[in-house]
Amino acid sequence: MNDKPIYVTEPYLPPLDEFIPYLEQIWASKKLTNNGPMHQQLEAALRDYLGVPEIALFNNGTIALLTALQALRIGGEVITTPFSFVATGHSLLWNGITPVFVDIDPQTFNLDPEKIEAAITPRTTAIMPVHCYGNPCDVAAIQEIADTYNLKVIYDAAHAFGVEDAGGSILRHGDLSAISFHATKVFNTFEGGAIVCPDAKTKRHIDNLKNFGIVNETTVVASGINGKMSEINAAFGLLQLKHIDQAISHREKVYRHYLSHLGGVDGLDIFENVAGGKSNYAYFPLLVNEHYRMTRDELYEYLRDHGIYARRYFYPLLSAHSCYRDHSPAQTPVAEKMSRQILCLPISGQIELGEVQRVVALLAG
Ligand SMILES: *Cc1c(COP(=O)(O)O)cnc(C)c1O
Repeated sequence: MNDKPIYVTEPYLPPLDEFIPYLEQIWASKKLTNNGPMHQQLEAALRDYLGVPEIALFNNGTIALLTALQALRIGGEVITTPFSFVATGHSLLWNGITPVFVDIDPQTFNLDPEKIEAAITPRTTAIMPVHCYGNPCDVAAIQEIADTYNLKVIYDAAHAFGVEDAGGSILRHGDLSAISFHATKVFNTFEGGAIVCPDAKTKRHIDNLKNFGIVNETTVVASGINGKMSEINAAFGLLQLKHIDQAISHREKVYRHYLSHLGGVDGLDIFENVAGGKSNYAYFPLLVNEHYRMTRDELYEYLRDHGIYARRYFYPLLSAHSCYRDHSPAQTPVAEKMSRQILCLPISGQIELGEVQRVVALLAG
């Protein structure tokens, strides 16, 4: 049997003919970038959809993270999680900041607030937690620590598009939140990202920073960067937004299918969503424990041999890569264990349920 390969996070693509009118508008306007009409419309539409005060679009999530750290003038040491994509740590290193890795909570995969205080030193200036897989961090506990020690909080919210807690968007927490609109994320603009800001003044500062620090023809206020999103990406975002609710509800179906069919399988630990408001079903993580009939890596290869490209997000730990070896004397045993057992199954806005069942059959088989 020659089944088509299934990847862990396939991009959502609306029908191509729906995109043509957007392209025609761009051609007519001759505005290709620099805060053009598509860019302005997407910022307004996302503010509404997410229910956040202000949002500044970026060309990708990594530049958004870098700029968020610049905007708050973060230096010294920043407390973060080792259980994340490398961009989290790289954004710190690129700003000359020392990452200090703190262990995670085994239920949420997120920074464990109870372990943060012990890692604070006189050089600590901020905490950079990640809403891993779109599971909300313990934002209240983190804010309380930040307030006590006068630290900033910058959320790497790359996974958290559309996630809400009981009070609204998860992106409203902390000083700033950076999101990613990369092709593999829940909401994508091919490449893209954003910073969610609390007010218009902060957004203005961030908008300057993402445009080389240029304020007007003769004034440059900071050594900014080129973080601008182009009109093509913004237009695609506007189209994606029309499909996002449908894409997320399809993800939920896939999620529930996995939950109901894998819940009883010996040796697989699966996780109910814990948003307490609205989830985005961005990932389907499971832990392959010692009672499963294969090791995690054997299962990963077995699936791959059957055309299913599950991913070990996040293995190795961010802190285990060579560029972090000098920075991570801290012990993070929970993250290490989870990293050895983790496997993320294919889930996306357009994956067919027949394909999901193929994955289930191999896992349960
Ligand atoms: C995807 C991702 C990023 C980076 O976003 P890009 O848009 O790819 O630059 C940062 N952090 C995490 C946790 C991510 O998953």
